[in-house]
Amino acid sequence: MTADLHLHTHFSDGTFSPEQVVARAVHSNLNTLALTDHDTLEGCARMAAACRDASIEFLVGTELTVDFEGTELHLLGYGFNPACPALQQALERFQIARQARVHEMVDRLNRLQIRLPIQEVLALANCRSPGRPHVARALVERGVCSSVDEAFTRFLKKDRPAWVPKAKVAVEDAIRLLHDAGGVAVLAHPGLNRADPYLPSLVEADLDGIECFHTKHSPATSAHYLQLAARYQLLVTGGSDCHGMAKGRPLIGSLKLDAIHLEPLRKAIAQRRARACLTSPSPVH
Ligand code: AMP
Ligand code: FE
Ligand code: FE
Ligand code: ZN
Repeated sequence: MTADLHLHTHFSDGTFSPEQVVARAVHSNLNTLALTDHDTLEGCARMAAACRDASIEFLVGTELTVDFEGTELHLLGYGFNPACPALQQALERFQIARQARVHEMVDRLNRLQIRLPIQEVLALANCRSPGRPHVARALVERGVCSSVDEAFTRFLKKDRPAWVPKAKVAVEDAIRLLHDAGGVAVLAHPGLNRADPYLPSLVEADLDGIECFHTKHSPATSAHYLQLAARYQLLVTGGSDCHGMAKGRPLIGSLKLDAIHLEPLRKAIAQRRARACLTSPSPVH
């Protein structure tokens, strides 16, 4: 039995629909999936339904961009009650910040005499949680750039002319938000963010787990984080971080988390759920 606990759809910066993700998962013999779109749960109900039809276990999730003393880290949340009002309100705030950021990027492009109507970007994104890849794709569709890569290199990368910093929430607040909604908080791809020095403080802030397995972690990196997870008594998770076709080739199926790590995760979620957000009924997913 295997799982993929880090997946994106076209409801954030991926290209697959929830149903396409599940179809690929079936093909790869995955038994448990979590959807972790950035700052949104928009795809979760459809993904839950598709998983149910395919007899795959589904975990609700999201990926938040957090700030720890000026460094950007990514935090995965799992198993929370998606109907929790405080969580829904916070996600809506993050989505509004993303939409404002896209407007600002387009304003900057327009000031550079690049005609890109904001409606074109928003129509292409067609989701509540747009980001730079949607601006990049719109630039390609307009013929301004010949590839998404070129759009990033010329305009959208850090310190390029249309770059706008992303809003981040303090890591302590993000962890509390996930806990209050009955979920667990897991540090995403620590090997990509050089997050080691922050781990003791994150544990202090009640972090529940580390994403030891990730497609950009080498076997040595994974082994290193497994050791740290054991040292700090943290949950172990893993996922492909598949963005569909957005990153060249689909990564789903190329990383399979052993189901041995799922029981501790389920238990931790049940404990958080028992103590949290009881103000709304918990829907099936
Ligand atoms: P955002 O959250 O809006 O800052 O956008 C982040 C997304 O942009 C992630 O999916 C990244 O993989 C993608 N991205 C970042 N740099 C590049 C690049 N040079 N080429 C293509 N995609 C990129
Ligand atoms: Fe992403
Ligand atoms: Fe990430
Ligand atoms: Zn991700």
